[in-house]
Amino acid sequence: MHNLASQRCFNHAQREAVARCPQCGHYFCRECITEHDDRVICAACLRKLVQAPPLRRRAFAGLAHGCECLLGLVVVWFFFYLIGEGLLALPTSFHERTLWKVNGWDQQ
Ligand SMILES: [Zn+2]
Ligand SMILES: [Zn+2]
Repeated sequence: MHNLASQRCFNHAQREAVARCPQCGHYFCRECITEHDDRVICAACLRKLVQAPPLRRRAFAGLAHGCECLLGLVVVWFFFYLIGEGLLALPTSFHERTLWKVNGWDQQ
């Protein structure tokens, strides 16, 4: 503890250090150090810890949103494609069936 007492705050050269940040290894005064998840951490490292997850989440959300848009486009495209196919297929199949029936009648 003598070692800690002789240390000065990383941000405030005049102040005595009360704790050492396990994240960056610097000594900090009572004002600069905070408790986070049952451990002491300096304000700078806390900011990094707090800011990191939302950034990742935002990036993931953007990615997910992009995927959703793409998926939506594919679904819409597929929907219209099916309608188009259905409209195209209906007369053809009717026509083919009629042809087959006519041929069948002709052959009999
Ligand atoms: Zn730190
Ligand atoms: Zn300080």
